[in-house]
Amino acid sequence: MSDPQILNARANKSLGQHFLFDPDILNRTALSAGPVEGRTVIEVGPGPGGLTAALLRNGAEKVIAVEMDSRFAENLRGWKEHKQGRLSVVEGDGLALDYEALVADEKQPVKIIANLPYNVGTPMLVNWIKAGSWRGEMGLMFQHEVAARVCAQPGDKHYGRLAVLSQAVANTHIAFTLPPGAFKPPPKVDSSVAVLMPLEEDKKYPHLSTLEKVSAAAFGQRRKMLRASLKSFAKTKGLNASEWLENCDIDPTRRAETLTQLEFRALTDRYLSA
Ligand code: SAM
Repeated sequence: MSDPQILNARANKSLGQHFLFDPDILNRTALSAGPVEGRTVIEVGPGPGGLTAALLRNGAEKVIAVEMDSRFAENLRGWKEHKQGRLSVVEGDGLALDYEALVADEKQPVKIIANLPYNVGTPMLVNWIKAGSWRGEMGLMFQHEVAARVCAQPGDKHYGRLAVLSQAVANTHIAFTLPPGAFKPPPKVDSSVAVLMPLEEDKKYPHLSTLEKVSAAAFGQRRKMLRASLKSFAKTKGLNASEWLENCDIDPTRRAETLTQLEFRALTDRYLSA
């Protein structure tokens, strides 16, 4: 349990601190990507520890809490679960951490469940996806628009490179959305939990860096036809954009927002083999 003083700790805005205290919301977040019983879970940004406690209460075998704010890291090191070895605390920047090394000894895929700081949530997710070897489920609270971008489908206004990259390795959906008033202090916008359920290994797309570059080029000028938006990127491999698209059975006059995951994969495969 947290020291009562920690529950009233002043939020540091530059660290994106917006805390959750409602037990029902914390349980729903903890279980957003399925049961945690018997599993190891990484939580980035535990803050005063509401979600950490919910993960432990719901039977997580171990929680690895990564926190940059030393006040919160120190508080968690005082918990009985820390002494029992069920809670380990990594004090530092979750963006700079070697997660592969952190979970090297784990036998089962490790989950990531977190109420992420708004300012670094997207690069953290991109790092985890691009590490490629990540096999555990993720339930991540973001500002709503980022969660919508992770889960968007072709034709949605939020469909873009984050959806293409996320869905190259996972099925995604929004578990639930919370208004600003659910947090202390309240952020300016709604928040949502995006759930990423990993695809089977042989269904994941392996060439993630190139897929990211192709989708970035395609969506860079999202109102343009693909033959125009991909023109200069195609040249990096000596390709003609229209021919490249036609070879993948894609009409060069279409726009990026209409392309499916499979079509982005086809474009990337052909770019790599050119
Ligand atoms: N999990 C808590 C909750 O739901 O009440 C706190 C969530 S708060 C939105 C984000 C937390 O991430 C804060 O505790 C903040 O100190 C921490 N944080 C911010 N940047 C971080 C970083 N780069 N690495 C690790 N933790 C970070």
